[in-house]
Amino acid sequence: MIAEVIVDINHSNVDKVFEYLNPDNIPIGSRVYVPFGRQYIEGFIIGQKQTPDYDFEKLKQIIRPLDEVPVISNEMLALMRFMTERYNLKKVDALRLFIPAQMRGGRIKALTKNYVKVKSGLSKGDIFDIINPRAKSQIELMEYLLSCEEEVESSYINNNFSSAPLRALEQKGLIEIVSKEIKRTPYKDIKAKNEIFSLTSEQLNAYDTIKNARDQIFLLHGVTGSGKTEIYIRCINDCIQNNKTAVLLVPEISLTPQVFSLFKSRFGDNVAILHSGLSTGERYDEWRRILKGEASIVIGARSAIFAPLKDIGIIIIDEEHDPSYISENNPRYFTHEIAEFRRRYNKAVMILGSATPSIESYYLAQSKKVHMIEMPNRINQKPLPKIKIVDMTQELRRGNHGIFSLELIDCMSDALREGDQIILFLNRRGYASYQMCRSCGYVVKCSDCDVSMVFHRAENALKCHYCSKRSHVLKVCSQCGSEHIRQGLYGTQRVTEELEKLFPDVSVLRMDNDTTRTKDAHLKILKDFAEHKAQILLGTQMVTKGHDFSDVTLVGILDADLSLYFSDFRSTERTFQLITQVSGRAGRDQKEGLVILQTYSPRHYVYKFAQNYDYLGFYQKEINIRSVTKYPPFSTIIRILACSEIEENAIEVLKNIYDEIKPLTERDRERFLYLKAMKSPIKRIKKKYRVQILMRLTADGVDKNLAEIYNIINKNNDKKDVLVYSEINPQDLS
Ligand code: ADP
Ligand code: ZN
Ligand code: ZN
Repeated sequence: MIAEVIVDINHSNVDKVFEYLNPDNIPIGSRVYVPFGRQYIEGFIIGQKQTPDYDFEKLKQIIRPLDEVPVISNEMLALMRFMTERYNLKKVDALRLFIPAQMRGGRIKALTKNYVKVKSGLSKGDIFDIINPRAKSQIELMEYLLSCEEEVESSYINNNFSSAPLRALEQKGLIEIVSKEIKRTPYKDIKAKNEIFSLTSEQLNAYDTIKNARDQIFLLHGVTGSGKTEIYIRCINDCIQNNKTAVLLVPEISLTPQVFSLFKSRFGDNVAILHSGLSTGERYDEWRRILKGEASIVIGARSAIFAPLKDIGIIIIDEEHDPSYISENNPRYFTHEIAEFRRRYNKAVMILGSATPSIESYYLAQSKKVHMIEMPNRINQKPLPKIKIVDMTQELRRGNHGIFSLELIDCMSDALREGDQIILFLNRRGYASYQMCRSCGYVVKCSDCDVSMVFHRAENALKCHYCSKRSHVLKVCSQCGSEHIRQGLYGTQRVTEELEKLFPDVSVLRMDNDTTRTKDAHLKILKDFAEHKAQILLGTQMVTKGHDFSDVTLVGILDADLSLYFSDFRSTERTFQLITQVSGRAGRDQKEGLVILQTYSPRHYVYKFAQNYDYLGFYQKEINIRSVTKYPPFSTIIRILACSEIEENAIEVLKNIYDEIKPLTERDRERFLYLKAMKSPIKRIKKKYRVQILMRLTADGVDKNLAEIYNIINKNNDKKDVLVYSEINPQDLS
């Protein structure tokens, strides 16, 4: 048989199938070591054939397999094909997603230990006949080993006896040394409460609907605290009873020890956990437990959708609207589409769970492609906290230029006096978003990117959030010499300082990208807050996720408009979701909660709907806008970006692509809703100029034209040092 091999080199020149002789019939899906040019490299067998396309005489032979068993199943090979077609990925980029990174190049191995045991089938008499009666140390060791019920770790023997008698006994064939794998299991010692509730009638209704389903998608629309997790647990349990496997995806930031302990307490070692906080060894061992079928439930962040499970019965995407399900860096993919591929392949059930479903998912439910289940009430029947909208333009008119409205200050004082806790949400890290000269309006910009620099107080420096470049703070305007420098908008760091001035005795925890650089740092902050080490938690969207603090009674949204004016068609939707989510943090226990929402555009429709927790009203408004403007779900956006340090080259390449795409649109006017070439909103990042083509197509327009569009891109890529790439429905159009 001839094996078809994808070599593990990331270069478009080698993104094709190579043929190798495979005399040992190493199966499809195996990783193998192969000769390639003058070197030896790793590769994946993705197919086989009887007769080669290539000259048989010249074919080289596979050297050896790299693992004991194939690591890529037929399902994953099919997924690889789907991903390369849908996202224009190289095959090897898809394959690399399917295995732990450190397996490549053999950078990680199973952890093993050696054990000593007495050879079986020997009687005591036989043994001591063989040992020389004068070999005291051998007799002593043998007596010890016979007294043990199990094998003993070699290192223990080496430390407590000498190695000479060990070797002597082994040579005589009386003992053997066996090697055993030690599994590096994350959260091994986790302790968990094991509460089993009887379901509420709402939960029961949801569970009954899903219970007997096959090959279906459900949208579980349940307010925060409606008890969705318990439904996930029951459905996973049923699935396991039917000898199938299960995946539960959760946004990375919500993957807390509480979540793991809940599932470990219900399902024990049958649960494997995959997320970026694990050590390499842990991740490798968890992955292999899944591959071998030792764990049939996988809990993890986005990339856990690639877990090597067989026979999936259920896929659950919790907080399905979360932007983290879209991978925006190479390789780009949308988790829902991968999940849907695997669901269809296995005829499995999928649950999309959210309090604020994405407009696209809700539209699918409305058009009956997805089965909708509503859970409008909280388990404890507690009403959702009241949301008060504060008009910040009024505050300005009153002479209050600060970040806090007088109302918010009052409410904070009250809550603090009561001993309650407060969460403050501001979607901007750093100190102030920019520095501007009051006299001439000069703003410091990054020299490599077309964005303003952000002031970081602690480091007393300006930093670019796109490329991390630093520069000195502005004391005197470099353009006009004026000393009147204005700090622009407030960032989390600056707010911390303001809080310290307002409430000197109150401790504040800050959670943003700057304070959570190290592994588990965000868990520590959440733990400290839960233990009341601080009364105020201030942060970026990290604080909006499903944390359950019973003493939080007040939530302050400092500048709700921040997510509203992004260059993204989803920005209103994102704003609605963020407000609903962060509001859900208040008043979860006995005390009533209150939310103060500060905005400069109090009449924007999103706030009215958010204030009343009116998801449906918001959805209807938003879907009408999308329908009129022909944005998703009524179209698919494709963006093609060309980047180069030389602007003319980027423009030239993009123009070539545009000229080739244009005829497609003329051929198919019905399906091409929009096509335009332009400079990107951020014209330069990391020294590279960016120009782009934006197009919008109907769904069948994508099916018909995508392959050809990718063809045009690939033909024009890597010319004149211009990098071209494409995105489908990107989050961020900047
Ligand atoms: P959601 O994920 O919908 O926001 P959770 O699943 O976190 O809600 O549930 C909210 C709280 O209610 C949790 O503390 C959970 O333990 C509890 N809970 C869930 N179901 C029940 C039930 N049937 N009876 C009592 N408490 C429940
Ligand atoms: Zn100036
Ligand atoms: Zn920069």
